[in-house]
Amino acid sequence: MDDDRRPTLRDTNLGKLSRERFDVLVLGGGINGAVSAASLAARGARVALVDRGDFAGATSQESSNLAWGGIKYLETYEMRLVRELCRARNKLLRCYPSIVHEIRFYTSHPRRFRHARWKLIMGAWLYWAIGGFSTRRPRLLSLGDIAREEPTIEMDGLDGGFEYSDAYLHDNDARFVWSFVRSALDNGCVAANYVEALRSTRENDEWVTLARDVISGLEVPLRSRLLVNACGPYADRVNASMGLRTAHRHVFSKGIHLVVDCLTPNRRVLTFFADDGRLFFVVPMGQKTCVGTTDTPVSGPDVKVTPEDRRFVLDNINKRLRLPRALSERDIIAERCGVRPLVVEAGANADPDWMQLSRKHVIETNAGQRHITIFGGKLTDCINVGEEICAEAQRLGIALPYAGRLWYGEPHAAVREQYFHQALLMRLDDLAAPPGAERLSTRLWRRYGAEALGMLEAVRRDPRMAEVIIETSEYRRCELDEAARREMVVKLEDFLRRRSKISLVVRREDIRRAPGLREACAILFGRDIDAKIAEYFDGTPAAG
Ligand SMILES: Cc1cc2nc3c(=O)[nH]c(=O)nc-3n(C[C@H](O)[C@H](O)[C@H](O)COP(=O)(O)OP(=O)(O)OC[C@H]3O[C@@H](n4cnc5c(N)ncnc54)[C@H](O)[C@@H]3O)c2cc1C
Repeated sequence: MDDDRRPTLRDTNLGKLSRERFDVLVLGGGINGAVSAASLAARGARVALVDRGDFAGATSQESSNLAWGGIKYLETYEMRLVRELCRARNKLLRCYPSIVHEIRFYTSHPRRFRHARWKLIMGAWLYWAIGGFSTRRPRLLSLGDIAREEPTIEMDGLDGGFEYSDAYLHDNDARFVWSFVRSALDNGCVAANYVEALRSTRENDEWVTLARDVISGLEVPLRSRLLVNACGPYADRVNASMGLRTAHRHVFSKGIHLVVDCLTPNRRVLTFFADDGRLFFVVPMGQKTCVGTTDTPVSGPDVKVTPEDRRFVLDNINKRLRLPRALSERDIIAERCGVRPLVVEAGANADPDWMQLSRKHVIETNAGQRHITIFGGKLTDCINVGEEICAEAQRLGIALPYAGRLWYGEPHAAVREQYFHQALLMRLDDLAAPPGAERLSTRLWRRYGAEALGMLEAVRRDPRMAEVIIETSEYRRCELDEAARREMVVKLEDFLRRRSKISLVVRREDIRRAPGLREACAILFGRDIDAKIAEYFDGTPAAG
C-alpha cells in the first residue's frame, strides 16, 4: 500500500489473512470456490478465499455461458445427470431472473445425421419433460420455417430442425462468479486475488498454508481448521503438492470459442452438429456473437488456441451459415480457451472414452485430514456445490450458526421495485446511450443489484457519472467508480475481461485507442496509469 492513499479492500484483506485463524480456507476462486465461500460465509463460518490469479481467471471465464440441463447427455443415457442439471438450471432461472435468461436453441438437422430427426425431436420433448415443463415447449421446424425465420442458416443438406429452451448468462460467466465472491465479502469472508497457495501442511490439528502475494512477492502462512481445494483443473497438482492422495482425479478436454460481429439479429442460440458430430453453438454475447466450441482431449490444464482450433470453428460456421462473405481470422474480435476438468476414478484407464465421460461433479472428503476437494462440475450446478460444501463442512465439525440462511439469489422484490421506481422518476433511461445499447436501468440492476441504488445517488449528485467512459463500450463512469471501490480490480485485465466484458466485444486496438482509457485507469488505480496500460498491452508487470 502507498503511504498517500487509503488502503484498498485487497490491502486490508491481505493483512487479515496473515493475522487471523479461519474455520475454512478455500483455495481457488472460480465458480466452485466462489460458491463455497459465499455459502459458508453467509451461514456464519469464518472463511478465507484466495486465488493465485484473478477470481474466475481460469476455466470459469471460458465457458459457453450456458445454464443448461445438458440435453446432449441424453445420448449417453445419463438421465440422472440431465434431471439434476435441469433442476439446477430451473433454480438459477428462478433465483436470478435478471441474470439467467431462458433462450431458444434453434437446431438444424442434417439429412444424413447419425440420429433421425424424429428421434431428436422426441429427445427434445423428453428433455422438456425432465425439466418439469418449466420452459417454453419444443417446436418442430420445417425447412420453410427455417428459411423464413433464420435465413442466415444454410439450408443445403438439411431436412428441417427443432427448437427447444435452455438458459444463458446474460453478463458472462466471470461476472456471475464475481457476484458470489462479492456476496462472500459482504458476509465477512476475507478474500484476496493474486494470492497463490504454495503448499499446505497439518500442524497441531490445523492446516497451515504457505501463500504468496503474487503482486508483492511476500509469503504469509494462512491458518485454517478445514481446507477446501477448489482449484478446478489444477486441483490434482495442489493435492500432490501436499502429498494428499484422492480416490478421484481429473482428465481434461479443451474447448475454444471465437467472438465475432453479430451473425444473426435474433436473440436465440443457433445450434448445429459440427463435422465431428458434436453440438456447436452460435450464442449472443451483447451485440456480438460467440461461436464454439471444440472438445479435444489434452494432457494438462494450460492450453492456448491453435491455428487448427480456429480453422475448425471458422470452417464449421462458414459451412452452416449463409454469410455475405466467409468469416476469416480477421473477423475474430476475441478468443476464449479453457479445459473442462472431467472427473474419473484415480485408478481409471489412462485413455478413457471421452464421449462417455460424465460432466458431473464429485466432492471428495478426507475426514481425518479435514480436507475437501471439488472435482469436475459445471457452472450450472453451482448452487448444489455451495449446499454440499456446507453439509460437508458441518459434518467435519465446522459450526454454521445460520445453517438455514439463504446465500444465493437476487435482492428482494421490494428493493427491485424501489430501484426501478427511482430510476423512472429521474428518467435514467433518457440518458444518451451507444446505438443498440439496452436500457441503462436494466443493465445497472442486473450487474449491481441493490448497489445500483447507490449509483442512482451518484448520478443525482453528478450527472457526469452516467457518461460512457470507454467509447464503443456501454460502461459508465459510476460503474468504474464501483469497480474501483468494491470489485478488487488489481490489473486492467481484471476489469476489461472479467468485471466487464469489454475486451470480449471491443477489439484490442480500439480499446488501446479509446480516449477514455486513461481516465478509466485513473479511476480504477489512482496512479500507475502508464504501468497498468503497459502491463495489459505489452505484458510488462506493473510494480506491486
Ligand atoms: C469450453 C468450455 C465450455 C463450458 N461451457 C459450460 C457451460 O456452458 N455451462 C456450464 O455450466 N459449464 C460449462 N463449462 C464447465 C465450467 O466452465 C467449469 O466446470 C467450471 O468453470 C469449473 O470451475 P472451477 O471453479 O472448478 O475451476 P476454475 O474456474 O478453473 O477455478 C479454479 C481456480 O483455482 C485457482 N488456482 C489454481 N491453483 C491455485 C493455487 N495454488 N492457489 C490459489 N489458487 C489456485 C485458479 O487460478 C482458478 O481461478 C465449460 C467449460 C469449458 C472449458
